[in-house]
Amino acid sequence: MLICTSCGKIFEQYSTKTWEEDRGEFWGEPCYEQMSVCPFCGDNYTNAKQCVICGSWIKEEDWNICEDCLNEEFTIDNCLEIGEENPAEIEINGFLASCFTAEEIDKILLEALMNDPDRVKDAIEKYAADDMLYFAEWVGEKWKKQR
Ligand SMILES: [Zn+2]
Ligand SMILES: [Zn+2]
Repeated sequence: MLICTSCGKIFEQYSTKTWEEDRGEFWGEPCYEQMSVCPFCGDNYTNAKQCVICGSWIKEEDWNICEDCLNEEFTIDNCLEIGEENPAEIEINGFLASCFTAEEIDKILLEALMNDPDRVKDAIEKYAADDMLYFAEWVGEKWKKQR
């Protein structure tokens, strides 16, 4: 399946608009180049693949998830799971650090975060945007496992 890089429509190879363009001569033989474009808008196309979640067609070089599906995956649960797999180190007051275990500190921070809904939304977007390709691939893998 093919997808137009301009209009985003989907079509098969046989329905592309094709022609031969005159490229002059090569060793005395007339030379033509096979040209083909999107049948709808006449622009370039590329190979298409399906979004791993909803199955809609996207460009082969895109991430494995379409934009709509990706937006729905910006959730606190996903971010917490990714954060769990990718622990971060911070420097905090040594005395305070000695008062709590790492699990307790996680819990305290999560509670503080959930009490501040505006911060949650911003935090999710910032965390996902920090490495969107990683986020998209992680979500894709999660979906594949769930099936
Ligand atoms: Zn097109
Ligand atoms: Zn999708």
